[in-house]
Amino acid sequence: MCNEVLKTGSKCRAPVMRNSKFCFFHNKQISEKHKKEARSLGGKSKIIRIKNYKKIEIKSISDLKDFLIDVLTGVMNNSIDVRASSGIAYLSNTIIRIFELSDISIRLEKIEKALNNNNLNN
Ligand SMILES: [Zn+2]
Repeated sequence: MCNEVLKTGSKCRAPVMRNSKFCFFHNKQISEKHKKEARSLGGKSKIIRIKNYKKIEIKSISDLKDFLIDVLTGVMNNSIDVRASSGIAYLSNTIIRIFELSDISIRLEKIEKALNNNNLNN
């Protein structure tokens, strides 16, 4: 393990680099510029960007089904990252919920109208 003693008094627990007593970030032979680049890349590597996507028209559950089949196909032929597909699946569930809620509110409106008409007629 790395020989660096941290500000807290405990030793750094990162694995050492080959032919060094220090880890990458505590190795004095590595420039601050290089370390800074590595730090920012570390954060960025977790972000998955989908390039060249077209605007997706999803006006019904059937559209969403077709879209999700496309995503599944993309995952199977490695053109879509599995982690990206998890995000897409999560957002798709939100879309399904919106469809369900709007369907319920349309039905409720119809029922309320029918009840009102009934009350006026009696
Ligand atoms: Zn270290």
